[in-house]
Amino acid sequence: MTATVIDGKAFAANVRSQVAEHVAVLKADHGITPGLAVVLVGEDPASQVYVRSKGKQTVEVGMNSFEHKLDADTSEADLLALIDQLNKDPAVHGILVQLPLPGHLNSDLVINSIDPAKDVDGFHISNVGLLGTGQKSMVPCTPLGCLMMLRDHHGSLSGMNAVVLGRSNIVGKPMAQLLLGDSCTVTIAHSRTKDLPDVVRGADIVVAAVGRPQMVPGDWIKPGATVIDVGINRIDAPEKGEGKTRLVGDVDYDSCAAVAGAITPVPGGVGPMTIACLLANTLTACCRANGLAEPEGLTA
Ligand code: NDP
Repeated sequence: MTATVIDGKAFAANVRSQVAEHVAVLKADHGITPGLAVVLVGEDPASQVYVRSKGKQTVEVGMNSFEHKLDADTSEADLLALIDQLNKDPAVHGILVQLPLPGHLNSDLVINSIDPAKDVDGFHISNVGLLGTGQKSMVPCTPLGCLMMLRDHHGSLSGMNAVVLGRSNIVGKPMAQLLLGDSCTVTIAHSRTKDLPDVVRGADIVVAAVGRPQMVPGDWIKPGATVIDVGINRIDAPEKGEGKTRLVGDVDYDSCAAVAGAITPVPGGVGPMTIACLLANTLTACCRANGLAEPEGLTA
């Protein structure tokens, strides 16, 4: 079998164009422009790239982008004061604090100071609790993107066996909650899981979020299963020239694609969906803040 490739780049472009259409209607019919504030503390190069990309895509869908760049030695009090100001600003519907924060700042405290209704990353403890109890919440962007692609590919996920590799708060746990919400039978595997290959072999859906390059080989995959590869790992690529690198996922793409029914590539799979879902969440937050109907198909 050769797997269907789930094209996350095209899927994300479609999500962004749906968001842009809704934004245009919000502006024309209600005079409202959704606004996303992104706070970056320090000069971590990867974070700077993400923040630039988020700002660019926010503007491209017609939303307002507010970027706040703070020095690496910004005090917790100053950061909390900025978040308080953004919480109160009616032009700001979504707030994202780029992680990781410099070590002297308490990330949990900072994230939990964001108004949960504006917490478009879905990391606030209230949103975690709402998701866990099946209530309306802001859903973390990467798992939301995975869910959208799975729903699109399968229609109903009801009754499917899903194995989530990884139990992080930003990917593994919310992914498992979302799959459970769609009536999958869910197993969460992690570094202490026994007989991991056999656990994965039972899965109709495998979501790999481990952070280990090409860890999952094809002979762990049940024939016809759907493989969603969240991992983003940079490895040496001597075949491209000395000192060159390339991105790979947490699954060994070639051997898994030979067995799976469908698979997301890296790059071009889950990655582009994350920012698209951030924009979708900002739109959802804006609609909720203004008592308007939420866009269909763009939330969990
Ligand atoms: P974390 O490091 O927070 O979590 C990794 C998880 O993998 C942990 O639960 C860990 O288990 C588990 N794990 C580690 N080694 C093994 C192993 N040998 N067998 C089974 N489980 C193992 O990572 P994140 O969740 O933040 O990210 C995971 C990957 O996804 C990374 O590659 C990251 O770059 C990528 N990512 C991609 C995004 C995107 O937009 N596409 C967004 C976010 C992340 P334990 O808890 O026991 O230590």
